Amino acid sequence: MIGLVAVTAAGRQAARELAGAWPDETQMYGGAAADAVRRAWAECDALVCFLATGATVRLLAPLLADKQRDPGVVAVDEGRRFAVALTGGHGGGANALANRVAAVLGAEPVVTTATDATGLPGLDTLGWPVEGAVAAVSRAVLDGSPVRLESAQTWPLPPLPPNVSADAHDATHRIVLSDDARVVPDERTVVLRPPSLVVGVGAARGVAAEEVTTLVDAALAEASLSPASVRCVATADVKADEAGLLEAAHRRGWPVVTRPTSELAQVDVPNPSDVVRAEVGTPSVAEASAAYGGGELVVPKRKSAMATVAVARHAPRGGLAVIGLGPGSRDLLPPRAVDELRRASVVVGLDQYVDQVRDLLRPGTRVLVSGLGDEEARARSAVDEARRGHAVALIGSGDAGVYAMASPALEFAGTDIDVVGVPGVTAALAASALLGAPLGHDHAYVSLSDLHTPWEAIERRVTAAAEGDFVVAFYNPRSRGRDWQLPKALAILSAHRRPDTPVGLVREAGRPEESVTVTALGDLDPDDVDMRTVVLVGSTNTTVVAGRMVTPRGYRWLS
Ligand code: SAH
Repeated sequence: MIGLVAVTAAGRQAARELAGAWPDETQMYGGAAADAVRRAWAECDALVCFLATGATVRLLAPLLADKQRDPGVVAVDEGRRFAVALTGGHGGGANALANRVAAVLGAEPVVTTATDATGLPGLDTLGWPVEGAVAAVSRAVLDGSPVRLESAQTWPLPPLPPNVSADAHDATHRIVLSDDARVVPDERTVVLRPPSLVVGVGAARGVAAEEVTTLVDAALAEASLSPASVRCVATADVKADEAGLLEAAHRRGWPVVTRPTSELAQVDVPNPSDVVRAEVGTPSVAEASAAYGGGELVVPKRKSAMATVAVARHAPRGGLAVIGLGPGSRDLLPPRAVDELRRASVVVGLDQYVDQVRDLLRPGTRVLVSGLGDEEARARSAVDEARRGHAVALIGSGDAGVYAMASPALEFAGTDIDVVGVPGVTAALAASALLGAPLGHDHAYVSLSDLHTPWEAIERRVTAAAEGDFVVAFYNPRSRGRDWQLPKALAILSAHRRPDTPVGLVREAGRPEESVTVTALGDLDPDDVDMRTVVLVGSTNTTVVAGRMVTPRGYRWLS
């Protein structure tokens, strides 16, 4: 819940606007400022104070305790010109909240946290527990001092600047990734706890939470494993409603995942039990749940009266983000794509697309560019980098799934990497918006490139689209070496549509050279079309209204 503290008329007006924008997330606090701030602080995860920064700081001062746990606080001035992230920038989410508040109120977000302000990755923004000298090490990273990165494995970290490296021997500061509880930070070290451990738990009906936490804590302590590196508690699906187990995980702040019992039965474990097999249907719950998916058992089964626990270490999983950059202009690049680009330490794409977003990449990002053509090699290298544990972004124009890189990449990708897709504005949609409303009813995309698809297949689909009276968007309509396909496709459509059927040609949508032409099927000159053009041919119902192509939403069929 976000507490909105407002004590003046202007403040209350701005607070009402935020409450209107986020009705389920906000709660208003009025009355005397000191009392309102105190109540909001006690009841909310974040505060927006419509007060001067000075007043806010004075009221907050006695309440501040812990920068990881305190609510984040944003102060907004009376003239609502600025949304200032005051405290809890990272841990409390105030930096992000300042941006959201600014967006709703039309204010300027003010974020002063060094790592955010300079575009370097904040070491405490990875979503992983951080211990030690965050401020000192961040400072060293920013100052360009040699910082050694120590990790036994490759985790999908965001890019780090060149002064942070595994072989910085003269390092003044260290960043250590470890699940070993004996690795503790000093005043020049940050220890990050990567989510490497899965705690497998088996339990008899009615087990007490206390018994589970005691057993888990002892298992981790004895093996010197940091509880902060526990990714989740895993158990068999038949235990999904075991209250004591759920409560134990909840107390430690760990999510619970359940595995199908039949699959647990297939996992090879050191300590199977016939009794458990007879009762549950798998010879192991704790060990098998922990190791499920390829983990290496680091704590074999331990038992108490009603519970069993085992711990496995899992290898890091790299990530592949498949990102469409839209047709070209920056304002058609979705914020999610920007986030993923900045999270990636490796970016793979054609040079022209990389150039389009180079300013968004963080310092230290490794860029693998290639020329046109070797699409398969590009897809493979992106997947291979993710397999090595990196956070990889594979970029393409428009939508990366439409006649683009997502398919070849995902044909190679296995279950060993995490994949996210970020949708982009594909050429047909960018063109549609420029032309009017040509896609208002059923439509088909057809690529006229017969480099990888036999022409007969393409022709069959064009014929089907013609007979089905679909609006058709032609991608890859024409290139220097391929000039007869478009006239042929248009001839097929012309057999079913009148010569005055509207046709839209959009070249270089969203780019400086953008051009938009509305013509007719009978008048189209193929010389006006090239590889940077998408061609939208109307159906028999498409008309031109005030110069705009419109395909009506509902058809009244005239028999
Ligand atoms: N993934 C891309 C399509 C790649 S196929 C997307 O979703 O848009 C390449 C074809 O897309 C080009 O031959 C052209 O027909 C079309 N295209 C891509 N970008 C375009 C743009 N900015 N303007 C017009 N057509 C475009």
